[in-house]
Amino acid sequence: MQINKILVVGAGAMGSQIGMVCALAGYQVTIQDVAADMLAAARSQLTDRMDSSVVKGRRSRQDAEAALARLTFTTSLEAGAADVDFVIEAATEKLEVKRSIFAALGRAAPEHAILATNSSTLGSSKVAEETGRPQQVCNMHFFNPALVMKCVEVVRHGKTSPDTVDTTMKLARSLGKSPVLIDREIPGFVANRLMGAIRDEALRLYADGIASVSDIDTAAKTALGHPMGPFELMDLVGLDVSYLIRQATFEETQDPADLPHPALKELYEQGNYGRKTAHGWYRYDQSGTRIQ
Ligand code: NAD
Repeated sequence: MQINKILVVGAGAMGSQIGMVCALAGYQVTIQDVAADMLAAARSQLTDRMDSSVVKGRRSRQDAEAALARLTFTTSLEAGAADVDFVIEAATEKLEVKRSIFAALGRAAPEHAILATNSSTLGSSKVAEETGRPQQVCNMHFFNPALVMKCVEVVRHGKTSPDTVDTTMKLARSLGKSPVLIDREIPGFVANRLMGAIRDEALRLYADGIASVSDIDTAAKTALGHPMGPFELMDLVGLDVSYLIRQATFEETQDPADLPHPALKELYEQGNYGRKTAHGWYRYDQSGTRIQ
């Protein structure tokens, strides 16, 4: 299937950058959001990012301007979906929001269009039936920041067709990404499960008094070659996010092994969420520099 036009639903942290990634690869892209202010913010942030990438010599002014010219912004899902070939939904992580978006896409998008969700935690089977074309629905899971991170997880559900998988993998490759295929919906997919395993072990080592937070981070960076240690990463992502994802996983699996670690729970309940509150595993000053 030939893809010319892509609709990205949601202009937040993920949707705006996913839209830019697609425009940079030469696709005509519409970014749709219910909030006009989010669209305005996305447009201005993407323009700034393109300016800065030109200044840093990463792309020519001409390429940046051409990519920005391929982006259109709208608050109307129906207008955005009218003549698209592929949709990437990156709206708020709430099942009822996504269900109503996928129902509307099922009505508004052309019959051949593939409808993918970027959700990190909701398998596409949860929205597929709303569309009337479950075989054309899958997860296409980008990583944050989408302009930089190469991994895209393509996750099929029980009814996703081989053509849908094939087209989605090809699209990801055409965006310069390295897609991985995940054959079954499982909580956390693959990359976040790997990260979770490292994080859990780091928490155990710390809680058992084996090594300090900063020494565990140092080992992850200097022995494993990770750009950040697991505690540094938790502080960056937000301990609230790590805690809530873990809690949501437990609610789905009911496996006590999936509960948030007590050391993480303690910081969460104290309101120490990491960089955003200047206190998590480490402490930060007002400029965000680590002080302890
Ligand atoms: P965000 O809160 O930054 O943006 C969500 C956007 O969706 C907002 O602009 C909001 O106005 C818009 N929205 C809400 N309801 C809508 C509707 N009915 N129609 C259109 N737009 C609507 O969220 P985000 O961090 O960009 O996450 C979006 C999706 O990406 C989620 O499904 C999340 O699981 C997934 N994801 C997030 C990350 C991450 O690190 N933030 C990484 C990978 C995947």
